[in-house]
Amino acid sequence: MIGEKPVAATTDEVVAELRKRKAFVMVSHVKPDGDTLGAGLALGLALKRLGKRVHYFQADDSVPRNLRFLADADLVSNVVPADLPADALWVFCDMSDTARAGESLPPLSRENILDIDHHLGNSHFGALNYVLPRECSTGTCVMHLLRAMNVPVTPEIATCLLTTIMTDTGGFMHSNTTPEVLLLSAELMGSGADKDQITEEIFANKRLPALKLLGRALNEATLGHDGRYVWSYVDDAMLAECHADGEDTEEIIGHLRSIEGVDVAALFKAYDGEIRVSLRSNGRINVQSAAARLGGGGHFRASGLTFEGSLPEAIAAVDAALVAEGL
Ligand code: AMP
Ligand code: MN
Ligand code: MN
Repeated sequence: MIGEKPVAATTDEVVAELRKRKAFVMVSHVKPDGDTLGAGLALGLALKRLGKRVHYFQADDSVPRNLRFLADADLVSNVVPADLPADALWVFCDMSDTARAGESLPPLSRENILDIDHHLGNSHFGALNYVLPRECSTGTCVMHLLRAMNVPVTPEIATCLLTTIMTDTGGFMHSNTTPEVLLLSAELMGSGADKDQITEEIFANKRLPALKLLGRALNEATLGHDGRYVWSYVDDAMLAECHADGEDTEEIIGHLRSIEGVDVAALFKAYDGEIRVSLRSNGRINVQSAAARLGGGGHFRASGLTFEGSLPEAIAAVDAALVAEGL
């Protein structure tokens, strides 16, 4: 170890550890998305082909509707099997710290933690930290591991991995869509990844309540800072009115960000007893730093945080954090 944080692990070190261990728990972050789930499922499916025992853990009660098409999604659970060996390796995918996995995790010792991630500001909480901030998704980090392990990428694994890429690049539209990302995606399609199914399940296939909720949230949108900032909110009453739930909020922030002249968009999700904030930037303002000022994190252009306090306090605090970052 150097200083307080263990140094980033090499691909070879991680592969050696994956080969050594016999049992694994793939861990997704709360409110799971296509990257955290797709990366964990892909690695789990590959490890199973090597004869390993694999479980999938997430704190939430169920996998989001639009991700249930992924192979093994039906095996994801918030219960840890009682007979899990003490030396099982817990593989955290797509999160900067263990708190993002939720509160129902059993106590774990660092030696049993592998951290695979691409977030800026990952806290290197594992014994091994395979943290590659230049990667577009955690799934492409997993892809490098699978390649080094020489495990065949089945169509099911390829679909999970392409899902991570399409989720975190916004369907190849965000600026993290580099030529390498397109080459990796082509390779995955060559291995049988079903791009059309991913498009249908994740980017089409909208529920009417989600679109009604989008309409409600856009109706409440407020511009600030000479039109460079836009914010809106969703609360319990709006969800009830639209017969929508938290999963139906996913698209809203992207629409806010797409408003002409807007540098930063914020969506305040004030329901289920907490206030979670999504921030998106066009690249001028670092919303990861802004979120970090309030205990959150993420990426330069996409970040989030959970706020303790009232909605007006959250709105004021986020405004101040963004101003401090140059808004
Ligand atoms: P979201 O707006 O929920 O889609 O999140 C955007 C990005 O911010 C993702 O990369 C998340 O991992 C990150 N993020 C969201 N909420 C939090 C949080 N409470 N703490 C740290 N990072 C977060
Ligand atoms: Mn994620
Ligand atoms: Mn990600």
